[in-house]
Amino acid sequence: MPLEKEIEKLVRTLALKNALDHDGKAQLDAVLSKFLGSRPDKRAEIKSLIPDIKSAVQAVNAMAPADQKALLEEIAPGELEAKKQVESGPRLPALEGAVMGRVVTRFPPEPNGYPHIGHAKAAIIDEEYARMYGGKLILRFDDTNPLKEKLEYYDAIAAGLQWLGVKPDIVKNTSDDMAKIQELGKKLVQNGGAYVCTCSQEKIRDLRSKGLPCECRRDRSTALDRIGNMFSGSYGPNDAIIRFKGDMADQNTAMRDPALFRIIEGEHPKLGSRERVWPTYDFAAPVEDSLDGVTHAMRTKEYELRNALYFAILDRLGMRKPAMIEFSRLEFEGVPVSKRKIRPLIDDGTIQSWDDPRLPTLSAFRRRGFVPEAIRKFVLSLGITLAETKPPFESLEAFNRKIIDPVSVRLFFVRDPVEVHIEGAREMEVTLKNHPTDASLGSRKVRVSDRVLVAGEDAANVKPGDEVRLIELYNIKVRDVEREDGKVKSIRAEMGGDEIRQSMPKIQWIAKNDILDFKVMIPKELYVGDEYNTKSLEMASGCAESFVSTLKPDTKVQFVRFGFCRIDGNNTAILTHR
Ligand code: ATP
Ligand code: MG
Repeated sequence: MPLEKEIEKLVRTLALKNALDHDGKAQLDAVLSKFLGSRPDKRAEIKSLIPDIKSAVQAVNAMAPADQKALLEEIAPGELEAKKQVESGPRLPALEGAVMGRVVTRFPPEPNGYPHIGHAKAAIIDEEYARMYGGKLILRFDDTNPLKEKLEYYDAIAAGLQWLGVKPDIVKNTSDDMAKIQELGKKLVQNGGAYVCTCSQEKIRDLRSKGLPCECRRDRSTALDRIGNMFSGSYGPNDAIIRFKGDMADQNTAMRDPALFRIIEGEHPKLGSRERVWPTYDFAAPVEDSLDGVTHAMRTKEYELRNALYFAILDRLGMRKPAMIEFSRLEFEGVPVSKRKIRPLIDDGTIQSWDDPRLPTLSAFRRRGFVPEAIRKFVLSLGITLAETKPPFESLEAFNRKIIDPVSVRLFFVRDPVEVHIEGAREMEVTLKNHPTDASLGSRKVRVSDRVLVAGEDAANVKPGDEVRLIELYNIKVRDVEREDGKVKSIRAEMGGDEIRQSMPKIQWIAKNDILDFKVMIPKELYVGDEYNTKSLEMASGCAESFVSTLKPDTKVQFVRFGFCRIDGNNTAILTHR
């Protein structure tokens, strides 16, 4: 019987799309499952449709890829374009004033901690724009505070970016340019654009809040001596700072003579103890951006008030000014994305390492089973708006799921196992598919006797008389549920029929002679409101199929009805997401 017109078109479209995804060869299984996905009403008659669907797939597979493309464009215009969009992901809007081949962006992390998803957002946007205009991306370690920076963090940031697939064209440190930066600072003092202030911190704070200048601001005669004292060591760390000569009464408090240099004595990871007069971020950022040839400087919105200072400094030094673009800080509900919030938990031992799966660091995302492409697509989907809305964490999960779902091997894990005795079941060998639609992911053989384990939660939901499907095995009919202290201890059952009914619970199981003791870490929200969530890490204990022991750490799997996980060790995995 020939297919109805509408059905025929759907089947051909699905076959063509599937073929174009798989080197020109569509797979019947995949087409069938997609078909039933869009036409669940045809489930009952699928058996009678299969021969025609099969020949439609064969016809598509006989075509050359170019012809497949042309036919898809003809019968389902728009599908190819939509497919391209999904593959290439969302794009950023055009950059104002950008000239092809001339754009230079920079990502300037301070090496004072591990990179997190917020840094990923900044770095990816910087990189995307550089690529979009055939320009350059600079990775510049913003390392001008020897008390906070460590070599470990430079390495962690470089490793995080590499994992993300962000490839800077130039890698440098702000500290490489110390001599130039200090020269420019001195120049600014000499030309009256800045001054050395020897007032106490309290006095500075007080006058700043009152909007009043101090005497140091007026006294230019001693400027050179004072600078000399800062560099020579005659002044101690809190004796003097270089301040920008702004306006102490400015509405914008960032312009009330902010510090441009301070004295810090400490071992710098790159320069040792050679330097003692260090620029602040407010001075180093504009000067470095200008010297580095940055055309478009991007940073998060909380620096907004400091933009005036950024440009005033460059004005006074007569230096070229980059364009400044702001975007919103990335935060998630319950997961603060800031070193300021993460570091205390590490320092006080609440969290052992920077790759703890509850953290929003890149190493944690990696360990948890997220793939870098998902992070990039997610970041680009946010765009560069200034809206302060926190995206739901689920949206990042959705991008990841879409990428790992087609390649994750399906396996069984049962949490809090309960034994089921299937009376009269004979020992048999079953072949389980590693993936429901992709046969290339292979299969595995399991020997099953009359005893299997099921998850405690599933066991708690059955009662005598129920019929339950053991996925890819057979149905069982529950005869007796033995409880102890209200908990199910064991179940007795008999083999049921083989017919799968929609209403029947379908549960995963493990053959009793095929057990691997196994634990899955389940990361939860790190914070509840402003409080650390003491229940943020849950451990699910149970059994996995022994096959799991053959998987290398880092393999991504899906434990059926449990969630996507990344194998973390011999007997442990981490839940990536459901
Ligand atoms: P933290 O609060 O984690 O210390 P930071 O801004 O001090 O953040 P830096 O290492 O100085 O961290 O940041 C480097 C770049 O990354 C800056 O341009 C900053 O704007 C950007 N960035 C940092 N956190 C986020 C975030 N949550 N969302 C988007 N961009 C961020
Ligand atoms: Mg910082």
